[in-house]
Amino acid sequence: MTTPTQHHPVTVVGAGLGGLVLARVLHRHGIEAAVLDLEAGRDARTQGGMLDIHEETGQAALRAAGLYDGFRARVHPGGEALRVLDKQARVLLEQKDDGDGGRPEIDRGDLRDLLLDSLPEGTVRWGSKVTGAEPLGGGRHRVTLADGSTFTTGLLVGADGAWSRIRPLLSEARPAYTGISFVELDLLDADARHPECAELIGGGMFFALGDHKGFLAHRETDGSLHVYTALRAEEDWLSTVDFTDAEGSRAALLERFASWAPALRRLITEADGPLTPRLIHALPVSHRWRRVPGVTLLGDAAHLMSPFAGEGANLAMIDGAELGQALAAHPGDTEAALAAYEAALFPRSERTALETARGQETLFHDRAPQTLVDMFSSFAA
Ligand SMILES: Cc1cc2nc3c(=O)[nH]c(=O)nc-3n(C[C@H](O)[C@H](O)[C@H](O)COP(=O)(O)OP(=O)(O)OC[C@H]3O[C@@H](n4cnc5c(N)ncnc54)[C@H](O)[C@@H]3O)c2cc1C
Repeated sequence: MTTPTQHHPVTVVGAGLGGLVLARVLHRHGIEAAVLDLEAGRDARTQGGMLDIHEETGQAALRAAGLYDGFRARVHPGGEALRVLDKQARVLLEQKDDGDGGRPEIDRGDLRDLLLDSLPEGTVRWGSKVTGAEPLGGGRHRVTLADGSTFTTGLLVGADGAWSRIRPLLSEARPAYTGISFVELDLLDADARHPECAELIGGGMFFALGDHKGFLAHRETDGSLHVYTALRAEEDWLSTVDFTDAEGSRAALLERFASWAPALRRLITEADGPLTPRLIHALPVSHRWRRVPGVTLLGDAAHLMSPFAGEGANLAMIDGAELGQALAAHPGDTEAALAAYEAALFPRSERTALETARGQETLFHDRAPQTLVDMFSSFAA
């Protein structure tokens, strides 16, 4: 006797912020989804990083998810402070967190926990790596996991990030290198162990820019400093550095900041633990696809962009919320729901991808950091 193939009416691939908001909004409307994630469990990886949550996207999504109050309770006070410096460590712009709460900051891990805790037990199937999916006709798909098992689904949502396994069902686009490489580092227990660095960074966001590179940093809720050193560099530069060699990789990075102020170089010399390389990729600004029955994308899978407008997580969440609402508003007509969702998704993604590309230009411009100071001044005006 053969075992019948398992069937999920709604499958979400990826338990990132976008996939989780979708599952939560569907749950609020009485629609249960199976969420698959390749991670071994919710604590398999530290989430790290602060996110500022924007009113019209991330905050709107949290309202739709019924989690706005829970979010406000987890906001990091003071996190909206801002400092902009040049490569000589001269402060060009300094803003205190005035507490107006327009772009409240939250720890990514806290936000993810809020969403995970809002879903019925077992919604997220950890340790489920999707390796591919094929159409079966009539909008149904067969999904294959890394352990060789398969199941069928009536609606397949690719919420599986930059290197989505679902995207090829809809589009041939692949993320391309943006020309910017990051090396990430942390300074732990900064007030006690790295007091000069802690004072330099301040209470919130920090930029030190020049020569088409810079330090983008943030004070985290656990008292550590998270620093992205960012450079315009050849795509293969990071692969020429051995990041398993802590001293060697530090020296290679310091060489790139040779003419920078000692106070800024100290962020590299005092870094705790290994340095982490990261290439920044993006999908084409106007990435979109023709409607294919029974499948769609959200978040980075749909519109991967560089982090220079701080919108990626915000967009993933509003995508998830709007897709959930569209499905709830079109019971029994998945195609109408997907068409309505994508009609709003495509122009929003394009608009933000353009803004992000402008953000990248601003940060790595010949005249940076003045370009960034001008940008913040124009917001204030
Ligand atoms: C350095 C950096 C800084 C950033 N800073 C900000 C910021 O300040 N503000 C902001 O809004 N955005 C920021 N972003 C962007 C933001 O992180 C992403 O846009 C956001 O996480 C996208 O969410 P998502 O749910 O679409 O995908 P992801 O968060 O990537 O989640 C995808 C999920 O899918 C799972 N998955 C992947 N492949 C498979 C598979 N084959 N099978 C099963 N599961 C799979 C993964 O394990 C993961 O849990 C930053 C990005 C970077 C790189």
